[in-house]
Amino acid sequence: MSNDQRVTMLALALRSVSECVVVTDMQDTILFVNDAFLTTYNYSEGELLGKDIDMVRSPNTPAAVRSVIRPATLSAGGWKGEVLNRRKGGEDFPVSLSTSVVRNEQHDPIALIGVAVDITERKRTELQLIEAREAAEAAANAKAEFLAIMSHEIRTPMNGVIGMTELLLNTDLTPRQLEFVSAIQSCGESLLTIINDILDFSKIDSGRIDFESRPFEIRTALDEVLTLMAPKARGKRLELMGTVGGNVPPIIIGDVIRLKQILLNLVGNGVKFTERGKVSVRVDAESRTGSEVVLRFSVRDTGIGIPPDKLDRLFKAFSQVDTSINRRFGGTGLGLAISTGLVQLMGGRMVVDSTSGVGSTFTFTIKAHVEREQPEPEPAASPAPGKDFAERLPLRILVAEDNVVNQRVIVHILAQMGYKPDLVENGAQAVSALELMPYDLIFMDVHMPEMNGLDATRRIREVHPGNRPRIVALTADALMGDRDKCISVGMNDYLTKPIRAADIRAAIERCGGS
Ligand code: ADP
Repeated sequence: MSNDQRVTMLALALRSVSECVVVTDMQDTILFVNDAFLTTYNYSEGELLGKDIDMVRSPNTPAAVRSVIRPATLSAGGWKGEVLNRRKGGEDFPVSLSTSVVRNEQHDPIALIGVAVDITERKRTELQLIEAREAAEAAANAKAEFLAIMSHEIRTPMNGVIGMTELLLNTDLTPRQLEFVSAIQSCGESLLTIINDILDFSKIDSGRIDFESRPFEIRTALDEVLTLMAPKARGKRLELMGTVGGNVPPIIIGDVIRLKQILLNLVGNGVKFTERGKVSVRVDAESRTGSEVVLRFSVRDTGIGIPPDKLDRLFKAFSQVDTSINRRFGGTGLGLAISTGLVQLMGGRMVVDSTSGVGSTFTFTIKAHVEREQPEPEPAASPAPGKDFAERLPLRILVAEDNVVNQRVIVHILAQMGYKPDLVENGAQAVSALELMPYDLIFMDVHMPEMNGLDATRRIREVHPGNRPRIVALTADALMGDRDKCISVGMNDYLTKPIRAADIRAAIERCGGS
């Protein structure tokens, strides 16, 4: 092939490639454009040849980009990036551009080549994806926000219902009244469980969940779960037992509340779906690397089992294997979805092995750290509530709460323990009250009119920066971050509504101890 033939062939080849190709001389005069270039930029060849390349550039490409292309092409032999070009008629469009330089035998640059690909479609898709992601995030945020508000709105009256019921149960009731009030109490408790389940599920779903890292004893945690479930198991004459393998470290660091929540769900299901036989829990250490240990928990029952074709539905939210069975046993179908979510967030996984009519084994693993030091001494058991409580721990207590029913619940609980708390209705009043009386402990509602609990605490801490008065937040918000918010403004403790006598007692114990 002669040189001329080769040049003609190269020009033909360049003409037909699908990218837009343009060749200019060193003064930016267009020497060659291929067919794709003409189609994309809407020009005829005659309109472009001999013209300045600026004709197809857009002044809207950022100056910082424009100024680097030529120097980079000359010094590094080429440049790649995204710029805006302009079609005939003035329409700008994005291109992915790569440039290169042609040099003669003396190595002098004699021409510049630009290869451009129209990326309008890709940009549009990228933009749509970004918009879709932003919309999804906004929807998720709106959902989380909605749940936070709803949980607050539902918990506040629930606080009244459960608290008042607890107080009513302590009065003289006829057997019939006792039966009715007990029913209200148990319905209230179930409603609260459902609200908590939905909240937990949404927290896991939106990744807004916090895990604690504290040392705890595996055996104690397991015993507590079994003790809680014992009455139900005894009622059904089921054997309930727990075994901790010899290789399990006695103390691990992790979130004991969440672990107990998973175990309670599995053991609870075991007891719920078993009529005869036993429910047993076994803990083993599956592996250990350095200070990290993988623990395996198996919860086995001799119950109704789960048909093989239903197993895959098990861990999905709101799913129940048999809705008719469920009507008999109760439940929302969220328990396993929550437990699986928690297990995954703790670095483990959950599996189930089940045979219809024989029983089921739920096995899950979690990752935890091993505690080398001795456990903290257990706090002394709380004495039963009574007037002597206030004698043992005399405290001047202020309650800041705007809701009348909640006020009565807290004041009554405190009165039963022998305290005579003072009462105010908002944060501003709490701040003023403290000027008249050096309170030891303030129960502070977070949401109050005029001045909320957070602002009031900030004010109080400006004057009393230490640990006194101790301020305990009362809030109906159970979403993550609320606790941090309360602690960050200077509160010492945090109780979620509905407030129960045991919570108040524990908060006072913690106050007495500090
Ligand atoms: P629920 O709150 O309804 O118990 P779960 O998510 O904990 O929700 O359980 C979902 C369903 O899985 C149950 O309704 C039941 O049909 C089935 N299931 C769970 N555990 C067992 C078990 N140990 N034996 C038989 N069926 C079970």
